Amino acid sequence: MGFDLPPDYVELGRFVGSLLDRVVREIRPGVKLLEVAESIESEIREVGYEPAFPVNLSINEVAAHYTPPPEDDAVVPEGALLKVDVGARHGGLIVDAARTVDLSGNYGSLVEAARAALEAAGRTMAPGVPVKAVSRAIYDEIRSRGLQPIVNLAGHKISEYKLHAGVDVPNVPQRLSLYKFRVGDVFAVEPFVTTPEGSGFVVEARPGYIFSYAKNVRTSDVAERRVMVAARDTFKRLPFCERWLIPITGMRVEYAIRRLVKKRGLREYPPLVESRGGPVAQWEDTYVVTESGALPLTRGG
Ligand code: MN
Ligand code: MN
Repeated sequence: MGFDLPPDYVELGRFVGSLLDRVVREIRPGVKLLEVAESIESEIREVGYEPAFPVNLSINEVAAHYTPPPEDDAVVPEGALLKVDVGARHGGLIVDAARTVDLSGNYGSLVEAARAALEAAGRTMAPGVPVKAVSRAIYDEIRSRGLQPIVNLAGHKISEYKLHAGVDVPNVPQRLSLYKFRVGDVFAVEPFVTTPEGSGFVVEARPGYIFSYAKNVRTSDVAERRVMVAARDTFKRLPFCERWLIPITGMRVEYAIRRLVKKRGLREYPPLVESRGGPVAQWEDTYVVTESGALPLTRGG
């Protein structure tokens, strides 16, 4: 039983891999997060793709889901442990990948553990292999280094226009994951690692700056209506941020977004923070499962 990996998918993955390699090499303390996020997102659009979600730039104990809001003045701090998480899509084909930059020189072991755990996962993933075996590989690699996985963050199956397609790959083996990988499956795998002093759990820290369409609700004004339509039709129900709406609406729409979250028309994704303040490293690639194993799509040339 063969399958054809679309060449477009391979190209998209390679593009994101190389983009990340370059961003990681060039990042310096003092640069505005807004500039980093916007330059990555414009590069994605310039070659004819779309971002699949706002670029996540998460610092130190923030594990994921921070994207700079419009007019954000925040910069990359000296000594930051910075996660750069990028998603791009070609039509409905989606890749999702992340790297961690250690600007402190103190967290090399955390970054190495996340990267090695991802490698171990990639070697384990194959047709017929249960998700739990991949979780086990990630967990063992991190624990063997005396570090901790983040228990409540997970990799995920990707399908057409769906970033989270219903199957998770936890970073800790869990009894409930019964799924077995199949040829042609696409999965983003993303070990998150913290120090032994951390709790190994993340909690939500509001406000969030990333949102996605949830359902149609009654809108009260033009701003709300435009946000709903864009969330559903322009962003294809994938995550988006206010920055992306300003060119469409010609104005700030934060209040409209927050009202729609209250009405449950939109979902909010607040930053996820290590609950004891432990520094967090992440490494993520998107893989496709082939007859002979798992092929990472998001590696640079
Ligand atoms: Mn990601
Ligand atoms: Mn992901």
